[in-house]
Amino acid sequence: MPEGDTVFRTAARLRTALAGKLLTYSDFRVPRLATVDLSGRAVTAVRSRGKHLLIDVGPGDGQEPVSIHSHLSMEGSWDVLRVGERWHQRAHTARVVLRNDTYEAVGFALGTLDLMADPDGALAYLGPDLLGDDWDAAEAARRIARHPDTPIGIALLDQRRMAGVGNEYRSELCFLRGVLPTRRVGDVDVPAMVDLAHRMLIANRTRLARTTTGKTGRTERLWVYGRRAQPCRRCATPIQRDHLGTADAERVIYFCPRCQT
Ligand SMILES: [Zn+2]
Repeated sequence: MPEGDTVFRTAARLRTALAGKLLTYSDFRVPRLATVDLSGRAVTAVRSRGKHLLIDVGPGDGQEPVSIHSHLSMEGSWDVLRVGERWHQRAHTARVVLRNDTYEAVGFALGTLDLMADPDGALAYLGPDLLGDDWDAAEAARRIARHPDTPIGIALLDQRRMAGVGNEYRSELCFLRGVLPTRRVGDVDVPAMVDLAHRMLIANRTRLARTTTGKTGRTERLWVYGRRAQPCRRCATPIQRDHLGTADAERVIYFCPRCQT
C-alpha cells in the first residue's frame, strides 16, 4: 500500500527521468484536464509532500507555472519507462502520460490528479512531513497531542497532524509501541510514537520492499499488518483484524490483543 516512503521513492524516480528536461508530450486522461497540453514546457522539480506527489512545470507561452499534483491512494502508481517501451500495466488505468526525449512517465490508477497553481499553499494544511527536509518532530507531536481524546490509530492517519503514515504503518507503529489503536492519544507517549514513525519511514525510504521487522522475506516483513489469525511474532496470540476510522474512511487495522493494551 502506498505510504510516505512509497511516494518518496516514486518522486526520486520521476525526478531522475523528468527534472530539468522539456516535456515533448502530455496526455491527461481525465475529462477535467483533457485539453491541457504541457508540451514544450520544462519540469522544474519533482517533490513529495507526505503522500502527495508534485511535478512542477515551468511557464509556457503566456502560461503560468503549474504543478501536477497526484495522490496514489490505495492502488495508484507511477511507472517510468524509456520512450517506446511497452507498458507493464493496463492502458485503460492510465490517467496521465508525460514524455520527454528519453523517458515516458505514466500515472496509473491515481486517486487524485489535478493541476495546482499554488501547490505549497494548497498543501499547507499538511502536518510535518516525515520524510521532508523540514521535518519537525516536536511540531508533529504537538499537533497529535492537541486532540487527547482521539484514538491514536486515527490520529496517526490524520495527515494534518503528521504527513506520511498510512494504513500499514499505523498498525505496525501501534504494535511496536505496545498500544491498542483505540487507545486515546492522551494515554500514549506521543513523542516516542512520532520518533518511531520517523525512524521507520527513514529506514524504508529507499527500500523496495517495506519492512518493519528488519527481515526481508516476503512473509517476515511486518509484525501485524495483513496477518489476521496468524500467531503474534512475540507472544503467539492470534493477530486480530478490525476497522478503525471515520465513517467515510473506515480503514482496516491489525493488532495483537495481548502485546497491545
Ligand atoms: Zn503478541
